[in-house]
Amino acid sequence: MTKLIARRPFSYLVNTAVYRKFYLRCIHKEIAKIEEGGVFVNIETTNACNADCLMCPHSKMKRASGTMNEETFRGIVDSAAGSGLKIREFVLSGFGEPIADKNIFERIAYVKSKGPFYVKIFSNASLLTPEKTAKLLASDLDEIVISFNGISKEIYESVMKLPFEKSMDNVLALLEARRLRGPDAQGHSEAKPKIVLSCVRLAGNKAEVAKFNAFWKGKADAILKPIPENWSGSMEQNSPWKYDIKGRLWPCRGMWDTLDFTWDGKTILCCRDYDGRVVIGDIKKEAVKDILARKRAMGIRQLENGDYSDAKICKSCDTMNKNNINWL
Ligand code: SF4
Repeated sequence: MTKLIARRPFSYLVNTAVYRKFYLRCIHKEIAKIEEGGVFVNIETTNACNADCLMCPHSKMKRASGTMNEETFRGIVDSAAGSGLKIREFVLSGFGEPIADKNIFERIAYVKSKGPFYVKIFSNASLLTPEKTAKLLASDLDEIVISFNGISKEIYESVMKLPFEKSMDNVLALLEARRLRGPDAQGHSEAKPKIVLSCVRLAGNKAEVAKFNAFWKGKADAILKPIPENWSGSMEQNSPWKYDIKGRLWPCRGMWDTLDFTWDGKTILCCRDYDGRVVIGDIKKEAVKDILARKRAMGIRQLENGDYSDAKICKSCDTMNKNNINWL
């Protein structure tokens, strides 16, 4: 035993009751901070998408395709806004292209009418038209993250299966329209909405990452280059960049601070659960606060008892590791 402790003192230490008590105390402190930080309410107003990106599981999705009805949408927003919870962001995106939802701009306005909430969408921008761009700029949206996974026609189209020129023209037109609008009479600052360009790092666009940076620097407000994820263990990604999932698994902070609603009003485990394999709640039957309480209780069972029985897919998720989740 002494030899073992000398050889692997740390692994011995982490398996003791004292360490575990200390570890749980630290994690609970972090949970309290995360809860205080507020909740992300992600609403998939449609799961229809006109792109077919290499790293996205959309084409594998078996659940029905549809667009959220108004009653369901308002039910989620009203319940969240009236819950007393601190809402960090409303994200009106899920497994679809939000601009494909013909009511998206009215929906952004509806959320904004409920309070000073931060509202964000993720879009490929390919469906923007001059009219939609004008509506977007007038909508009071806070942030648009544009998926643009390449900077040459050849690579972009091979990754996203969308016409490069159209998407590029639309993004440049949006940036220019925002510049021309400047601050407006409704009180929008010249930098609203924040325009973020995102390129997922894949083997296919590896050579373009530096060019992507150089092209959008000074045009976009921010640039993201995320590593592709394995969608809760359901998809192998062809990318030289990987999350490190070796070693101890850490509880996912999404159990405490994120709710994801699909277009039919169900609350699914998270945005990686593209087929809605783990349904936690349904806005047609219960309030946002109650659904969140159930999800947090699942998180506590994972943390304290190692019980993943109601969310088995978490065990294969590559976002659940210390480096990525940043717990301590
Ligand atoms: S661990 Fe992964 S699958 Fe589980 S809730 Fe977090 S992000 Fe989703």
